[in-house]
Amino acid sequence: MRDQWYERQGMGDGITRLSEPHVHRSFAANLFHVRGRDADLVIDFGMGLVPLRPALDLEEGKRLIAVATHIHADHVGGFHEFETRLGHPAEAQDFARMVDQDTLAHVFRSLPGAVEQLPCLNWSPDSHRIRPAPLTQTVDEGEIIDLGDKQFRVLHLPGHSHGSIGLLDESAGVLFSGDVIYIGGLVDNLPCSSQVLYRQTMQRLIELDVQCIHGGHGAVMSSEQMKAIARQYLQGTSAKATI
Ligand SMILES: [Zn+2]
Ligand SMILES: [Zn+2]
Repeated sequence: MRDQWYERQGMGDGITRLSEPHVHRSFAANLFHVRGRDADLVIDFGMGLVPLRPALDLEEGKRLIAVATHIHADHVGGFHEFETRLGHPAEAQDFARMVDQDTLAHVFRSLPGAVEQLPCLNWSPDSHRIRPAPLTQTVDEGEIIDLGDKQFRVLHLPGHSHGSIGLLDESAGVLFSGDVIYIGGLVDNLPCSSQVLYRQTMQRLIELDVQCIHGGHGAVMSSEQMKAIARQYLQGTSAKATI
C-alpha cells in the first residue's frame, strides 16, 4: 500500500505532480518534482505519512533542491528527507521546530477520517508528528533558484501565512503558488494569516504576467482562472475554507 500512496501525474516540461489521494481532502496537497538540466527541484512534501523520496524518480548523483512554499503540515511532512532545504525567513524558526501551532498537525490528527487508508499497519493519527527540518538556506523576494535550463524567481506572497512563497519561471510563464491561490476554498483566518497582506498579494497576482499556475491544492489553473479567483477574493466573494 506504501507503493501506491502517492498519485503521480506528468504535467509536461519536466514537471511531475504528486498528491495523496488517501489523505482527508483538507490536507491532501499537491507536491511537485521539476527536472532541470543541472539540478532538480522538489516543491512541497505532503503529510510525511509515507516516505516521499522513494516515490520520486530521481537520478542518482544529481543535485536536488527542496523548497517549502510554507509551514503547514500538508506541505512539509517529508521536508526532513531532503538535504538542501529552502524556505522563507519569516518561517525559518518554525521549520526547525515543526510544532503543532505552526504546522496545524493537531487539526489533522483530530479530523474524523484523517486518512481513508492506513499508511502502514497499526498506524493511528494520534501518533503523527511532523519532523523538524531546519532550513539550510533562506530565500526571499527576488532571489533566483537556478536549475541550469530553468530559473525560478522567489515571490514572497504573504497572507495565507507570513512566509508563503511562490516560485515563478518567468521564461516559461509557470508559477507554483502553494496555498496562496488554488481552485477551492482559500484559507485566510489562521493565526498566521493576514487578510490585509492577502489582499495585497491578490492584487499582485492580478498584475502578474504568467500562463500556467500550479496551486498547492486542486487542478492546474490558467492565468484567467487565477486572476478571477484573486478578483473574487478582493470583492469578498471567493470560496473560503476553514480548518
Ligand atoms: Zn497552508
Ligand atoms: Zn495546503
